[in-house]
Amino acid sequence: MSEQRAFVGLGSNLRSPERQILLAFDELAVLPGSRLVGRSSLYKTAPIGYVDQPDFVNAVAEVWTQLSADMLLDALLGIERRHGRIREIPNGPRTLDLDVLLFGDQEISGERLQVPHPRAHERAFVLHPLVEVAPDVEIPGRGLARDWLSQCADQPISRIAEESTLRRALGTFVELT
Ligand code: ADP
Ligand code: MG
Repeated sequence: MSEQRAFVGLGSNLRSPERQILLAFDELAVLPGSRLVGRSSLYKTAPIGYVDQPDFVNAVAEVWTQLSADMLLDALLGIERRHGRIREIPNGPRTLDLDVLLFGDQEISGERLQVPHPRAHERAFVLHPLVEVAPDVEIPGRGLARDWLSQCADQPISRIAEESTLRRALGTFVELT
């Protein structure tokens, strides 16, 4: 069975965001039919759009998967639900947001799923961690991801720590509920 190289964007700004992201990495590591092969550092970013909310913590995971893009989205929505995600304000605060950023070289424009993620190429919080885990990755239809970095230089972003360092600092026990 063939595998696709997928990239998942992770974001959180509620209820210990760093822990939410570390736990989500662990959950991605046990997705059926999939291998988690890359974890970016964690980044702190200012909210975009609805600005009256805490900063976000963002990261990117590289997942090689036998799932279809739809099945991967279902799995991600299931993980979001387990983190107590409730959809209220668009672009508002969230315990965990998981997006399919890229799915191989596929371009999908369905009702429920658009890949590449339509805003991936214009968001610092996607591009920095994405280029960290995959410096040469292309966004289908847009070219090299790293070539878009300069266009979002005005979006504040800072690297918090490598995932492994943060995990040691916070401990491995993650209580969410
Ligand atoms: P956003 O991530 O844009 O802030 P949400 O996470 O609330 O907003 O988006 C919810 C819906 O977006 C999902 O239920 C899903 O159907 C749809 N969607 C479309 N394309 C994607 C994608 N590439 N990754 C994740 N969700 C997507
Ligand atoms: Mg989302």
